[in-house]
Amino acid sequence: MITKKLMIVFMATVLVSSGGFAQVKPIIGVAGISHESNSFNVHKTPIEDFSVKIGEDKNERAKKFFAGASAKTTTAGYIEGAKRFGLELYPTVVTGATPKGPVTDQAFNALMKEIITDLKAGPKLEGILLALHGAMIVESYPSGDEEIVRRVREAFGKDMPIVVTHDFHANITPKMIELSNVLITFKENPHLDTYERGLQAAEVMSKIVKGEVKPVQSIVKPPMIYNIAFQNTFSKPLIPIVDASKELEKNPKVLAVSVSGGYQYADVPSMGPSIVVVTDNDKELADREANRLAKMMWDTREQTRLSNPSPKDAVKMAIQHEGRPVILIDMGDNIGGGSTGDSSFLLEELIKQNAQGWAMVIADPAAYKVAEKAGVGNSFDFEVGGKTDALHGKPVRIKGQVRSLNVGRYLETEVRHGGGRYWNMGHTAVIQVEGSTLDEPNLLLLTTQRASPNSAHIFTSNGVYVERQKMLVVKGAIAPRAAYEPFASVLLSVDSPGATAINPTWFKYYNIREGLFGIEKSKR
Ligand SMILES: [Zn+2]
Repeated sequence: MITKKLMIVFMATVLVSSGGFAQVKPIIGVAGISHESNSFNVHKTPIEDFSVKIGEDKNERAKKFFAGASAKTTTAGYIEGAKRFGLELYPTVVTGATPKGPVTDQAFNALMKEIITDLKAGPKLEGILLALHGAMIVESYPSGDEEIVRRVREAFGKDMPIVVTHDFHANITPKMIELSNVLITFKENPHLDTYERGLQAAEVMSKIVKGEVKPVQSIVKPPMIYNIAFQNTFSKPLIPIVDASKELEKNPKVLAVSVSGGYQYADVPSMGPSIVVVTDNDKELADREANRLAKMMWDTREQTRLSNPSPKDAVKMAIQHEGRPVILIDMGDNIGGGSTGDSSFLLEELIKQNAQGWAMVIADPAAYKVAEKAGVGNSFDFEVGGKTDALHGKPVRIKGQVRSLNVGRYLETEVRHGGGRYWNMGHTAVIQVEGSTLDEPNLLLLTTQRASPNSAHIFTSNGVYVERQKMLVVKGAIAPRAAYEPFASVLLSVDSPGATAINPTWFKYYNIREGLFGIEKSKR
């Protein structure tokens, strides 16, 4: 017997389920080319550097895209956001390459042709999400990112909602703000909020396609360089500004607030920091708040003057330091900033000053080959590093023993800079340098690829006990902090030469804006 009360529940259930016929979700195209291009790296970035196959089967491509859901990247955030906010994603080319010199026209045009053709050939789209870096230079375009949005806009018209995500290191052009509907950059450096920003982009997109919001955005660029040495968003001087941006997002009229630090190794007019505020149809509010945050940034300028040690002084300080490990951050050879990964200035100093208990990675495929040929347990004697160009020191002769040879793939399960999970540093040889002991081994890791030290597994996966070493050299700037700060005794940011030297006086800038604080424009 069915009681009256149960009957009511039963009927209510039927009513709900009969009303729920399969809802059609808005379909959102997804594409992206992500590259941070270093004007001072003479090696251009060709198509082969991008993790993409032109003409790849669409289903294969989509399968790979959705397989990325387990990471903590921006696109993993898109995937989760689509689920949460009722969107269906239609992914096409979403690719990137390790930072290097500007992207070739040939690579850019081939990728863009594939993206536009694919997006056009798919189902009817109601919006497009673009995962871009924001500091890409193409041979013919000082802002490759702006050119991507221009081409997508041209292909799909003025009414297509376009939501763009950018890295914290974006050099945003004012035109980008006109061409896109919403621009969101990572708030954190090291980039630990990549996933959250992807989620945010998907949520805003869902509100746009449902007609709940009408975004308008403003950009203000403070007239300065925000030196990379001060781009840690978890400490002063940036933290109050980042906090203010988070606070502002609590305003229901505000859809997104971005404080981007800019990327100083790009000799382009848009080089430098930006504030972007997106509101729901309130331009005056967007303008006012963007100006307020830009002024906050400008007001910290005196706190961004450099006083970092040279390689010589840094090694001396590391030897004298009591605790361990000391992390020597080789800022001039910041792989994630587009450097070569084979700079030898710190290696030379470590040898010269007879430092003990150091470990360091150098990208040197030729030296790896020599170690591989010698074999595990055998002697190694070869010139290492300083081979790619004239900016990164001279080769240093290293004698020692091949301790191990490894495949160089590893897994990072914690959220580190960029949110990546699977990493590949290329084949790796570990050399124990002559004269060092098992108690204080000097370990040189030779790799066939450049690998950003975003994870300490770059060492541990090769059998290096990071806590035991006296010193670890990492070729980065701020990004490695997320991985190394938890166990480091001290981190020393070294003012070393190289394609990513933090001191702008190492370079000539011809194309930046006039009169920026902290950087000189050169005359031709
Ligand atoms: Zn970045």
